[in-house]
Amino acid sequence: MRPLVADIDLDALRHNYQLACRCAPKSRSVAVIKADAYGHGALACAQALERDAPAFAVACIEEAAAIWRKLSAAPNVTALHLMSHFATADLQDSRYFNQQMARLQGLAKELDAPLCLANSPATLAWPVAHGDWNRPGVMLYGSDPLEVANDITQQLQPVMTLRSEVIAMRELEEGEPVGYSGRWRAPRRSRIAVVACGYGDGYDRHARDGTPVLVNGQRCAIAGKVSMDMLTVDVTDVPDAVIGSEVVLWGRASNGVILPVDEVARYCDTISYTLLTGVLPRAPRRYHGRSV
Ligand SMILES: *Cc1c(COP(=O)(O)O)cnc(C)c1O
Repeated sequence: MRPLVADIDLDALRHNYQLACRCAPKSRSVAVIKADAYGHGALACAQALERDAPAFAVACIEEAAAIWRKLSAAPNVTALHLMSHFATADLQDSRYFNQQMARLQGLAKELDAPLCLANSPATLAWPVAHGDWNRPGVMLYGSDPLEVANDITQQLQPVMTLRSEVIAMRELEEGEPVGYSGRWRAPRRSRIAVVACGYGDGYDRHARDGTPVLVNGQRCAIAGKVSMDMLTVDVTDVPDAVIGSEVVLWGRASNGVILPVDEVARYCDTISYTLLTGVLPRAPRRYHGRSV
């Protein structure tokens, strides 16, 4: 069996949800579990938050099909909320946010409707957007959506740890190439670890040389193009790296060291949302923590 798994820490999920609630004590927070809970498994995440979250949000009706029949059978579905979504709540520049907010406030006054506006960045950084309800999503999974971190986002805990192992070791002479098209060349005598994780598992093929990876809880760098089933890491400075050593692609290593998915995303020219939702079923989800 391939050693690749996505470990899901449900206690961290609950911690992050509580953090979202503490940011907006006057609002109720809808836990956003669309896109299979951002790749973490919608059912398990909903069950883990069942006691805390008064409501859940999904993006399309197929995802809501569990609840749909119940809803349509209810004789008294009458509550109407003014719901909208921010385009720039993650940016420090407040110009567009303020324009959008002013229009929504005008509309809310006109309709006398309760508000449901804030996504994670607005929950974290724009108290003026906190309504009767908020809709935190990616922060529940431990990712910091803000352009510039603040003291609250620093308390977020990673929920998913994408974990694998070293499956082969290679000694290289200076100048020897690694991987397809030989993109990486050893700048010195090097030790390269081959890791059981590739784009066929959902790891981003755009990861540059230098993308961080934890081997035995120590930061190392990807060396060479990511291939379908494997990727290669320069472990010259991790003398204890051997076949079977723990590899964390993002999340928390067993020695407690954290590699934020946001940081990996920057090396792949993308955002945490695509990395988390991109993990394929070939990496089985393994759940930890209190399930309810
Ligand atoms: C995805 C989504 C959210 C949550 O956004 P995050 O940035 O993940 O917090 C909230 N509202 C709507 C309408 C969404 O589609």
